Amino acid sequence: MATGRTILVLADQLGRHVGPLSRIDPSVDSVVLIESERLIAQRPWHRQRLHALLSGVRHLAAELEADGIEVLHLRSVDMASGITEATTRWPDRPIVAMAPSTSAGRRHLAKLGVILDPDERFLTDPDDFAQRFGGERRTTMETFYRWQRTRGGWLMESGQPAGGQWNLDAENRKGLARGGSVGPDPLRHELDAIDAAVLADLPTDLPGAPPTGLWPVTRSQALAQLDHAIDKVLPHFGPHEDAMSSDDFSLAHTLLAAPLNMGLLHPREVADRIDAAWRAGGVPLSSAEGLLRQVIGWREFVWCQYWARPGWRDANGLGATRPLPPAFTTGQTDMACLSASLRSVEEHAWTHHIPRLIVIGALCLMAGVDPQGLVDWMRTRFVDAADWVMQPNVVGMALYADGGLLATKPYAAGGAYISKMSDHCRGCRYDPKQRTGPTACPYTTLYWDFLDRHQDDLAGNHRMSRQLAAARQRPDLAEIRLRATEVLAALDEGTL
Ligand SMILES: Cc1cc2nc3c(=O)[nH]c(=O)nc-3n(C[C@H](O)[C@H](O)[C@H](O)COP(=O)(O)OP(=O)(O)OC[C@H]3O[C@@H](n4cnc5c(N)ncnc54)[C@H](O)[C@@H]3O)c2cc1C
Ligand code: SF4
Repeated sequence: MATGRTILVLADQLGRHVGPLSRIDPSVDSVVLIESERLIAQRPWHRQRLHALLSGVRHLAAELEADGIEVLHLRSVDMASGITEATTRWPDRPIVAMAPSTSAGRRHLAKLGVILDPDERFLTDPDDFAQRFGGERRTTMETFYRWQRTRGGWLMESGQPAGGQWNLDAENRKGLARGGSVGPDPLRHELDAIDAAVLADLPTDLPGAPPTGLWPVTRSQALAQLDHAIDKVLPHFGPHEDAMSSDDFSLAHTLLAAPLNMGLLHPREVADRIDAAWRAGGVPLSSAEGLLRQVIGWREFVWCQYWARPGWRDANGLGATRPLPPAFTTGQTDMACLSASLRSVEEHAWTHHIPRLIVIGALCLMAGVDPQGLVDWMRTRFVDAADWVMQPNVVGMALYADGGLLATKPYAAGGAYISKMSDHCRGCRYDPKQRTGPTACPYTTLYWDFLDRHQDDLAGNHRMSRQLAAARQRPDLAEIRLRATEVLAALDEGTL
């Protein structure tokens, strides 16, 4: 009789369609799922984030058991004690797991004697990426995306991009200065008895609103979310991708990052569905291309960049040391754009890309917030958070702390941009057009102050030369500096 194995399943590997679970032999193999007390107590997790992970683990345990698979589902002090328990239960079975998505996680499990199989949750192997693109100092996302599209054949016709263009982003930059809704309401998944039990087990003092069924926790819910994303959201995706509205928090974004990052969906499934929907007609090419670019382009590029550059945690190219502003934990601020973004995080453990980059990220960039302080906060508050995706996005894209390896220029934003792209400024006590004085928009003041403070750091970036010159020539630079000092002090005190 064949010797069995015990398959350790981590909370971001919950799909049975990939990895060791997809090859399980129920007659000899067993599964262990561990809820680590240490990890749960480690940080002030958003209620919906912790709920989604624990509920996902418990639903999977129940599904496997119902299919006659031997399952050990544990609440242990930590991962090590859980693994010891599994070894005691099945001493003859080696423990295998799909490799964790961080290098620290891989080292930890290897030290505990776990055999690591390759991570099958992505389209691209970071080693292949390094071999193909590693020699170049900076491989642009665009180069990578074209290679990815060509090899997968998505939105391709006779070896050429459908419609003759690789990039239709120019059609996807419409603002929403008057607010309003775009696209359908998000899908809600029914909460069941397992969800109720998870909620009863959560510490009572966690931040964040209770779950409303927004986040899929099983494979079948994830597939329903994918159907909804393709059939209902995709036709609207794109034109207002970069906009923000007080009336509509999701604004035709797919909400697929959480199920993708929990391992409940594979990016190939998403890409295949986008391609098929476009070929069937009814979905504009710009929408299909816009979403495909996010999934097979940005997501995979970021995954490979995480592994290509091991120094993310130490990167701090602009010398940013400010602690995270208190508003991020209290939610209290008069800045209407920040208040709306933080409210979305509080209510849904999520905001879309632009509030992350242009409201939360740009404020921290311009104020000089310590990169890992922002990463830590996002890790606890966002349902789709994962170290591999946050380090490049927060440290590189939002905070330009990697010296410009990921983003070609810092995403600093003044009130004028936020005002063009959203309806937030209409209800704000600050004025996006003012740079100085008590009602000046903090983003506008900090935008000019940031350019002034970092003239030397950014001097070599030709994409910034126009803005840097404009800052140098500002006649009111002295007043801007003065107002910026007041703004930063108020930000630190939580009175902005
Ligand atoms: C400061 C900052 C922090 C971020 N933190 C995270 C994070 O912790 N987890 C996370 O998954 N994404 C993160 N992102 C990327 C992006 O904002 C989210 O993936 C997206 O907002 C999730 O919403 P959605 O699923 O509706 O995505 P959609 O807008 O519908 O996009 C579709 C999919 O594309 C992928 N995607 C799009 N852009 C990116 C990107 N830049 N990096 C990686 N994947 C991308 C996601 O998987 C997403 O589900 C971050 C971006 C920024 C600027
Ligand atoms: S005025 Fe400034 S602070 Fe207020 S919403 Fe607009 S950009 Fe945000």
